[in-house]
Amino acid sequence: MTAPIIEIRDVTKSYDAGRPALAGLSLDVPAGAALAVLGRSGSGKSTLLNLIAGLDRPTEGTVSVAGLRVDRLTESGSARYRRERIGMVFQFFNLLDDLTVQDNVLLPAQLAGMPAAAARDRAAELLAQLGIERHARTHPGRLSGGERQRVAVARALMNRPPLLLADEPTGALDSASAADVRELLVELNAAGQTILLVTHDTGLAEACASRIIELSDGRIARDVTVAVAR
Ligand code: ADP
Ligand code: MG
Repeated sequence: MTAPIIEIRDVTKSYDAGRPALAGLSLDVPAGAALAVLGRSGSGKSTLLNLIAGLDRPTEGTVSVAGLRVDRLTESGSARYRRERIGMVFQFFNLLDDLTVQDNVLLPAQLAGMPAAAARDRAAELLAQLGIERHARTHPGRLSGGERQRVAVARALMNRPPLLLADEPTGALDSASAADVRELLVELNAAGQTILLVTHDTGLAEACASRIIELSDGRIARDVTVAVAR
């Protein structure tokens, strides 16, 4: 058995003196999994994602991703970790509207110092794979929500991260675009991409997750392995 790509041990996160946002949570996610995290508002989903992304630190416990102790990174180490090891997709895309689609997708490669020719090749490959190559020179503001989310996914995958994190990726989409993004995530996972997805969209969770956990008051209240026929 290979080591899990995400290893969370006894993590507590307290923002203030009140009830902790995460309360002694442990979680192992194997490489290649598609894990969906459900739970009502305030249950700790974004806190969990932020700890995995190294955007915040646990009050207690440890967070390891691909063998790296994310909870112990320095600020620059943490920025580098996000550049090299994880891709992130957000509800509202977080694209730069002043840049073309292509330049948005190229940005992570430039930040990581990838040679320009290799970066252009990688961007072209991703845009083609995601069916948005005809929009390469368009600005994201002119695209539909579903297309914008595809651009965001392309950007997230630019540096070939072992882990793709998505926070409500269909939360701002109409149902047709949501179905489109759902299908894309299923395809990426089928091709081997490990995905951790926070969502309210149970249809999305059921379509693309091999495992669904539900958070309640910072704990795992339900943990279901899904038998997916594909
Ligand atoms: P979810 O994403 O499931 O809605 P969050 O992880 O955002 O939940 O929040 C979990 C709990 O932690 C909530 O009670 C929320 O109010 C609290 N919380 C989240 N972020 C902060 C913060 N930066 N400062 C103080 N409390 C926070
Ligand atoms: Mg949240």
